[in-house]
Amino acid sequence: MNLLMMARNPDLYSHRRIAEAAEQRGHDFRVVDTLKCYMNIASHRPDVRYRGEVLKDIDAVIPRIGASITFYGLAVLRQFEMMGVYPLNESVSIGRSRDKLRSMQILSRRGIGLPVTAFAHSTGQADDLIDLVGGAPCVIKLLEGTQGIGVVLGETKGAAKSMIEAFGGLKANILVQEFIKEAGGTDIRAFVIGGKVIAAMQRTGAEGDFRSNIHRGGSAKTIRITPEERATAVRAAKALGLNVCGVDMLRANHGPVVMEVNSSPGLEGIEGATGKDIAGMIIEFIEKNARPNKTKTKGKG
Ligand code: ADP
Repeated sequence: MNLLMMARNPDLYSHRRIAEAAEQRGHDFRVVDTLKCYMNIASHRPDVRYRGEVLKDIDAVIPRIGASITFYGLAVLRQFEMMGVYPLNESVSIGRSRDKLRSMQILSRRGIGLPVTAFAHSTGQADDLIDLVGGAPCVIKLLEGTQGIGVVLGETKGAAKSMIEAFGGLKANILVQEFIKEAGGTDIRAFVIGGKVIAAMQRTGAEGDFRSNIHRGGSAKTIRITPEERATAVRAAKALGLNVCGVDMLRANHGPVVMEVNSSPGLEGIEGATGKDIAGMIIEFIEKNARPNKTKTKGKG
């Protein structure tokens, strides 16, 4: 097959592994720098151009769009969809997952377990927000944060209130969330491909940190998840319409709660922890599923 990956940096572990797996399985594989793609969006024969060349005869596109270029990256991916090229994850689904509020609203509508969460822009109602999620301790998150940056624990109501007010002063969108203390500084990443959890790992934060992000000094190990956790991850992927994703969950007393669904999940942590060839499984999924004009949404909506 003719496979094309949209990625800014082909040298990242995940991107190298996907390229390796595609080549090992005998495919023609190519990486294009997402930001260097351009197109005529008003033409009735949509195409995508790259360094003066029209990109043609592509069987599937693998979007690895960094969070900072979501807007442009999704426009390029939509263009491929309009051309009938099969996308590993559709632009609409990636768009849903990139917007924390939108994705939580979708998951909530489907009855998927979530931490009790309130969000606000600049209400001036810090007390009420804290009460909405059951009081302190509670977690306050900057909506635009990634890799654990901008996630803080308000241990007392007073501390939570001043943090909310501080973020309010910066005019940031925030999310206030019940603190799942029983998770004990660990979370679960379930890796879903084609409606199945194919690998799972538990991440544990550095000593004294309630955040389990590897980027914050956390570590990962393979774990067996419960049938309920498995079902929750699969339902979350389905609700957002993602073929491939990482579903991050916390183990709460009342069952698994989903924190986030990542549509470009990294492979290094999960392949390292589980020893599985996840890049190979992604390519295998494409082999089985890629067909022209199979995009469900065609980038609409
Ligand atoms: P980011 O998207 O920046 O990684 P997350 O929302 O995933 O931010 O939070 C980072 C880490 O903080 C999580 O991996 C988890 O370990 C911890 N955490 C986040 N929310 C909660 C919560 N409500 N209760 C307990 N721990 C949490």
